[in-house]
Amino acid sequence: MSDIAFLGLGHMGGPMAANLVAAGHRVLGFDPVSAARDAARANGIEVAANPNAAVAGAEIVITMLPTGAHVIAAYQGDEHTPGLLASASPGTLFLDCSTIAVDEARRAHDLALTAGHRAADAPVSGGVIGAQRGTLAFMVGGSDEDFAAALPVLQIMGERIVHCGGSGLGQAAKVCNNMILGITQIAVAEAFVLGERLGLGHQALFDVASNASGQCWALTTNCPVPGPVTTSPANDDYRPGFAGALMSKDLGLAEAAIALTGVDAQLGIHARDMFRAYAEGDGAHRDFSGIIEMIRAQSSSIDG
Ligand code: NAD
Repeated sequence: MSDIAFLGLGHMGGPMAANLVAAGHRVLGFDPVSAARDAARANGIEVAANPNAAVAGAEIVITMLPTGAHVIAAYQGDEHTPGLLASASPGTLFLDCSTIAVDEARRAHDLALTAGHRAADAPVSGGVIGAQRGTLAFMVGGSDEDFAAALPVLQIMGERIVHCGGSGLGQAAKVCNNMILGITQIAVAEAFVLGERLGLGHQALFDVASNASGQCWALTTNCPVPGPVTTSPANDDYRPGFAGALMSKDLGLAEAAIALTGVDAQLGIHARDMFRAYAEGDGAHRDFSGIIEMIRAQSSSIDG
């Protein structure tokens, strides 16, 4: 059993850390939000007085923070406070599970190695339910040795763990997957609105497309209209699920990766624009499949 420091005990990090405790690890955590600290204590996580106290003596440091800027600031510290890298014992394994840009992940990795540590990026998919159930998917970027060292801990928090290659490639896999997801959710929503305008019933379109070449997760699991898939958020007034704000954030990371590489990813950029507009309204806190309502509202009138 290892001593693990866990920074960021929010919607995802809280239950992930709780699963590590349940598996017998000693977890010393920190979060600036007192409600997150209280919930963590209730789940057996020891709460440190500050982030540096959490990492001193840890064998593994896991971060689950909002953005890449948070991760790099936490690693580096500032002129008043030493960062996590300076406070940890040499050779500590730093696992960043936050969703951040590929270049930020590589920067965080380089900072960790330069400080004498080991590091891997290990973003997740599976949402809060996956974090609670320990069924997350992890996409890992790092050396073979560091992946092997991280694997036993990741297997507690997740059930599908893929080593995607070297530094940053876990984030690369995440950003590519979520770009597919954003684009296909829009495509499915547009098809349902087009079908409505043509007089085609939702169930009929679903029965055809789900058994034909239109089949995809955005249709068969996250169907954007109520009815055909009773568990999809559309049946619950688009309660997330995966919130529009998070899809907008992830497509912003896709945009950064597209800019970095010069790829002609026009649909990715267009999906980013659409989800940004959706998240600027009440879509921020609704499931991303609710973008169908924006498409319906923006479709021109055929009455006159
Ligand atoms: P969250 O806002 O609930 O949790 C982040 C926590 O980090 C907050 O409690 C915040 O107080 C804390 N924090 C900020 N700075 C800190 C610091 N320096 N030290 C310690 N704690 C600090 O966000 P979340 O939903 O848990 O998401 C975390 C990450 O996981 C994000 O990068 C997100 O994109 C990604 N993610 C989220 C989901 C999801 O469904 N929520 C799914 C996949 C990936």
